[in-house]
Amino acid sequence: GLQPIRRALISVSDKNGLLDLARALAERGVELLSTGGSAGEMRNAGLQVRDVADVTRFPEMMDGRVKTLHPMVHGGLLALRDKDTHVAAMLEHGIEPIDLLIVNLYPFEETVAKGADYDTCIENIDIGGPAMIRAAAKNHAFVNVVTDVADYDALLAEMDANDNQTTYGFRQRLALTAYARTATYDTAVSTWMAAALQETTPRRRAFAGTLAQSLRYGENPHQAAAFYTDGSNRPGVATAQQLQGKELSYNNINDTDAAFELVSEFRPEDGPACAIIKHANPCGVARGATMAEAYSRAFDCDRTSAFGGIIALNQPLDAATAERISQIFSEVVIAPAADADAREIMAKKKNLRLLITSGLADPAAAGLAFKQVSGGLLVQNRDNGRISAADLKVATKRAPTDRELADLLFAWTVAKHVKSNAIVYVKDGATVGVGAGQMSRVDSSTIAALKAQRMAAEVGLAETPAKGSVVASDAFFPFADGLLAAAEAGATAIIQPGGSMRDDEVIAAADEAGLAMVFTGMRHFRH
Ligand code: 5GP
Repeated sequence: GLQPIRRALISVSDKNGLLDLARALAERGVELLSTGGSAGEMRNAGLQVRDVADVTRFPEMMDGRVKTLHPMVHGGLLALRDKDTHVAAMLEHGIEPIDLLIVNLYPFEETVAKGADYDTCIENIDIGGPAMIRAAAKNHAFVNVVTDVADYDALLAEMDANDNQTTYGFRQRLALTAYARTATYDTAVSTWMAAALQETTPRRRAFAGTLAQSLRYGENPHQAAAFYTDGSNRPGVATAQQLQGKELSYNNINDTDAAFELVSEFRPEDGPACAIIKHANPCGVARGATMAEAYSRAFDCDRTSAFGGIIALNQPLDAATAERISQIFSEVVIAPAADADAREIMAKKKNLRLLITSGLADPAAAGLAFKQVSGGLLVQNRDNGRISAADLKVATKRAPTDRELADLLFAWTVAKHVKSNAIVYVKDGATVGVGAGQMSRVDSSTIAALKAQRMAAEVGLAETPAKGSVVASDAFFPFADGLLAAAEAGATAIIQPGGSMRDDEVIAAADEAGLAMVFTGMRHFRH
């Protein structure tokens, strides 16, 4: 039920709002205990404060590593006020109950984000703070614990509504927040150590994030949702600066991430590239002599699907590209930068969200990827596999020409970012047909070829651009049928992992059709 607040222990690194809170507590007759820096600040403001050192009768020592780690503090936080033996222990040892704990922790996450060295990060691991938070939260039957400056007002409001007492439900919710905080904190430490030690295996790892934003809703309007960042500070949707437009939605964030990760495969020094994403799959990806051309070629792959799409660029947004983009409705544009003219043009498209990143994502970066299943989390290394020409094995009698080879590598890179089964047709550095997410590889092939036919109609080509194209398949062709479908559509070269039981059959069919086929030895399933 209701519990009074008579004594508070305040130990905060983030001193925002400290004095207002302390004053408000003092006015409500609450006795204040505090640690060095926090106590000093309150005393300077004329508040009456007792040092924790007086309570523990130990000085703060070892650079603050040991301040509150003492039975006089932890006994005061953990004692059950309604249990005879606990009350007797308090009396015997002179332990005074602490009813309210206000703690926020050493800024470990901020220290890491600033790029501090190893020893500085270690010194910023708070020990006494989490110990007290966990103790107070465990004893929420009696004790209030506030770990977030944003909750100060709610605490005072609760006290005012209940004659300086708090309800059990209120303390329960504080405890829940407190454990989320200590869990996140230790996860940040563990994540930082994994990075510092270059530990890449998914075993024995903890996961948590910092709430960046509550979202209007999730994948659908009846689903609540929020966006958490993991503190890695990588260029991408999590760290981008939004220059205009409504707040990003759940689906926007998902698709923008897919678009940006894909376009980041194309290094800026190799020329402009553009990816357009719908429902997490690319509906067009292209290189161009200029960014405007790259965009137009990506758009041409599937003009119907590109409507309302998400556009990612590997180089700054310029005026010519902005002009073209603004001809239709798009949800999001994400680019490493945007020049002043481009910003002005985009500003007229009020509903378009423009995101600027601090660079491109590193496709080769190590990291973990998570997928939730009922009852658990699947964890794996992120797919940072990349293939270059030197990794390819020519399987057919005919080797690909240089032009085919360039397109094969481009198609393979795109296929990595298409949901399986993925079939991608490419011609001259642009996708001309994408088959995504089908349960059979032949169906994906058929759809990709159909899309190429429709592109011919949309763009006004005399024949399907699949003629003279190349094809990538994210996994091996289990039978010759998918490959023959590609040949029939007009493809001249194929890139695929190889390794099927029937590779011989597939190779023979490719030779018979005069195709060049290369094996990557690497698969890119994506689900
Ligand atoms: P202050 O600025 O008041 O001197 O220190 C406040 C910070 O010290 C808070 O972030 C609190 O979590 C942390 N803290 C409190 N007790 C201990 C302790 O015994 N050891 C360590 N390492 N940190 C503590």
